[in-house]
Amino acid sequence: RRAENEKNMSFDNLRSPVVCVLGHVDTGKTKILDKLRRTHVQDGEAGGITQQIGATNVPIDAIKEAAKFVKGFAELAVQVPGLLLIDTPGHESFSNLRSRGSSVCDIAILVVDIMHGLEPQTLESIKLLKDKNTPFIVAVNKIDRIYDWQPNAKRDVRDDVKCQSKIAMNEFTKLTNDITVQFAEQGLNVALFYKNPDPTEYMSMVPTSAATGEGMGNLMALIVEYSQSMLAKRLMYSNELQATVLEVKAIPGLGTTIDVILVNGALRESDTLIVAGTEGPIVTQIRSLLTPQPMKELRVKNTYIEYKEIKGAVGVKIAAKDLEKTIAGLNIAVANQPDEVEFCRAEVSHELKSALSSIRLQ
Ligand code: GDP
Repeated sequence: RRAENEKNMSFDNLRSPVVCVLGHVDTGKTKILDKLRRTHVQDGEAGGITQQIGATNVPIDAIKEAAKFVKGFAELAVQVPGLLLIDTPGHESFSNLRSRGSSVCDIAILVVDIMHGLEPQTLESIKLLKDKNTPFIVAVNKIDRIYDWQPNAKRDVRDDVKCQSKIAMNEFTKLTNDITVQFAEQGLNVALFYKNPDPTEYMSMVPTSAATGEGMGNLMALIVEYSQSMLAKRLMYSNELQATVLEVKAIPGLGTTIDVILVNGALRESDTLIVAGTEGPIVTQIRSLLTPQPMKELRVKNTYIEYKEIKGAVGVKIAAKDLEKTIAGLNIAVANQPDEVEFCRAEVSHELKSALSSIRLQ
């Protein structure tokens, strides 16, 4: 089946990249995520930004709107359907979202406070990203705090930078040069994205302000461009299930549920599900597949939208019996036929054992 699945994968059918946000405390990770999600325009219409379980789906039309000032972006042939932003920034969600030893995160935004440069948790983030071979884009945030900076969010950030006073420009150049040197000390080549000589060797740095919104369109455009040019193979939609448990949660009326990032493949109501549990693999049946209602539908009685079938990449809540002992951070499996249950149990146990041994090694 694997061979057949590979035959069906194509560059014409990419899934959304999963995007994580990492960086030192107080650099503006949460605020950047808020800006990217633009929570206030969250509407339920087709193509709108939708809140999912543990993640937010930003469809390509919303990205095009946010990136309309970005030079060249309108001409780019867009292939990804959008971005799936993991809602909780930081090390923990990055590390918990494992899949077969790698990270579920396809690309990361590493946030650096332009005034502070690399800080202890920036270095920890770099180590995590290097370990998992996860590419990243550096957001040098809080540019609005530079002395005499005149913000203009309604233009490409390249032009925004160019139009600054000499004094602001000098400060900006000094600070970004210092940050470049600090990255070099960590063995990493970074360059301002509009000066990047070779994206295969240099990570791009984009100046941003989550306070004024400067650089947000550029940041999204860069993630899309990088995903398509460098990650297309990894992003080819695959029918082979790849889904990781983000969190185990008891919900009144639903019992214990699992929140899952479904990267590839589809889940269906009443599928036989196998998950890792503290006392061995748990075999159960999917009772419901849920995502939150769009904001404006909050008056509706039911808090969730139910699906008969849902495809990656999305964040989804699964309700089923016997999930109390599920372990977060591991892959789930689905048995399509009764005789696959044993195979799936073995796969899940194997993954659990290797996760435990890698924890012991650390
Ligand atoms: P996190 O700990 O990395 O998630 O940082 P937060 O997003 O919570 O931001 C920390 C503080 O910095 C908050 O007071 C934010 O309002 C502020 N902040 C975040 N981004 C910016 C920015 O671009 N400019 C300015 N001036 N303040 C910012």
